[in-house]
Formats: sequence, structure tokens, C-alpha cells
Amino acid sequence: MEKISIIVPCYNEEATIPLFYEEIKKVFKDMKKITYEVLFIDDGSSDDTLTILRQLSKKDKTIKYLSFSRNFGKEAAIYAGLEHATGDYVATMDVDLQDPPYLIKEMYNIIKKEDYDCVATRRVTRRGEPPIRSFFARCFYKIINKMSKVEMVDGARDFRLMTRQMVEAILSMKEYNRYSKGLFSFVGFKTKWLEYENVQRVAGATKWNFWKLLLYGFDGIIAFSTAPLMIAVLIGSLFCVISFIMIVVIIIKTLCFGDPVGGWPSMVCIMFFLSGIQLFCIGVIGAYLSKTYLETKNRPIYIVKEMDNVTTKEHN
Ligand code: UDP
Ligand code: MG
Repeated sequence: MEKISIIVPCYNEEATIPLFYEEIKKVFKDMKKITYEVLFIDDGSSDDTLTILRQLSKKDKTIKYLSFSRNFGKEAAIYAGLEHATGDYVATMDVDLQDPPYLIKEMYNIIKKEDYDCVATRRVTRRGEPPIRSFFARCFYKIINKMSKVEMVDGARDFRLMTRQMVEAILSMKEYNRYSKGLFSFVGFKTKWLEYENVQRVAGATKWNFWKLLLYGFDGIIAFSTAPLMIAVLIGSLFCVISFIMIVVIIIKTLCFGDPVGGWPSMVCIMFFLSGIQLFCIGVIGAYLSKTYLETKNRPIYIVKEMDNVTTKEHN
């Protein structure tokens, strides 16, 4: 019998886990020829998430959980889930029911019947989201797709079902700065995109705010593009050319009209402008350096404090 693993990162989700559990049970009641496991990752929650997971895993052996020693972020939770999933097919999804569980059946049928390795989802609308956030999100996808060779799909969610082969490919990337959307795209494989309307979360509150999203966006660019470094090179070259032309103009002007003192305000403006650009470029280099620094430390991506029903799996 084939087995599907569902990986569910949870951070302060006491309100949503019971609702999610009921929904997922309904889905697999319909899929008779399949066994399944639900692997919850408690990402260092400070509410009753862990207590609820303990209770669920006691009464239902298909429910497994890992609990982190602190909040390591959703990307780390997904990685931990992929490492511990034992299914032939592995799905990742949010616990807040923004990723409709009924789609799992459809995803599975597509992978089985059509020649796909992965079925992913994207939302076609951003209904219910603040307009300013939608605007920045659209700009972000335009920019990153211009800058990076790896394609990032606008509106792509982390809700997807993939084959064991693809899971192993993702696990083979052990980087510390994990930007899932990019990693999924980087490994390739044939992916089918399902589209659906944006759904509001059933309970609890989102963990994201504008600044977190903005920083997350920068992380994505730094992780999957070196174009910003090239921008520094281009701006630098442009200013060398401009300064060379200016030197020639000033020499000719001085030879023809003498050297009347003046131009102090313009000098200050130029100094401010150039030092601004220099700092900007150093900042860009620094951003890459800081990521490299973290990468070379080889720190663990997550630390598990407690788990239940989980068997550690060997990976090829
Ligand atoms: N999440 C997590 N660790 C975090 C933040 C979020 O595991 O540090 C989980 C969260 O519990 C949820 C999913 O990631 O299952 C998506 O989070 P959320 O609904 O807040 O994000 P949104 O849907 O608003 O993008
Ligand atoms: Mg959500």
C-alpha cells in the first residue's frame, strides 16, 4: 500500500490544529487504498500547541510530531518534516486550512495518472489581503524573476505533493538559509500547478507582518540571485566613465577660461551622492557576506526537543 506523508508546520496554532485534524481525517476516509501519516512540526510555540499534539499523537498513531527547542521558522520546520517523513509521497501544507485539504486527493490522482513528479498550488487572487501588501508582492515577483535564473511563481503557496525522488533531491540541499519557493523550483522535476482562490485562515492570526515579508523577500533575492552584486559593478563602471568625462571637461574649461573658485555646493552634493552609492554597494556585498558567514558555520537547521511516533529515516 502506498503511503502519503503530510508535513504541517505549526507555530502557536492551538486554535487551528483540532479543526485541521478533523478535515484531514475526512480526506483520507475517502482514499481507501492509501495509508497516511500527519507529521506536525511544533516550531517552538508558546501556547498549547504542544499539549494538543501530545494528546492527538497518543490517541491516533497516524499523528506524529516533532517539537523544536525554539522557533526556527517555517522553512526549518518544512526541512525537519521532509527529513522525517516516511511516505512514498510527501505533502507540505499550512495548518490554518488556507490550503484546502480536499485537494490532496486530486493531487495524488494527478501524480499517479499523469506524468508529473509534483503538484503544487498557487492562489490566483489575493482577496482579503491589504492592497499595499499585494502591490509589493507583485513587484517582488517581477524583480526576482528578472534577477534569478530560478523561476518563482507569483502566488505560489507552500502547499504541494511530491514524489519521494523529489523529496530526496530537496534534502540533498543542506543550506542553512532555506528559501523553500526557490529550492522547490531549483530541483526541477515536472510540476503541475493547481489554482484556487485565496482562502482566509479559519482561526488564529497570521505570523507575518509587512517588515517580516519585506526581509523574507530580500532573503529570497540574496539566496537565488547574484544580480545585486552585478548592479554594484555596473554603477561603479558608469561613475568611472562619468568622472573621466568630467575631468576632461574641467581641464579644457580651466585652460580656456582660467580657474575661478566656486562650485562648493555642487561638490558637497557629489560627495553625498557618491558616498551614498558606495555605502549601498558595500551593503549589498555585506548582505552576501553575512549569508556566507552563516552558511560556513554549519549550524543545525533545527533542534528537536521532543517527538512522538516518529521514526528517523535513512536518506540516500
Ligand atoms: N509557521 C511556522 N513557523 C513560523 C511561522 C509560521 O511553522 O515561524 C507556520 C504556521 O503555523 C502556519 C504556516 O507556517 O501553519 C503559515 O503561517 P501563516 O498562516 O501565519 O502565514 P500566511 O498564511 O499568513 O502566509
Ligand atoms: Mg496562513
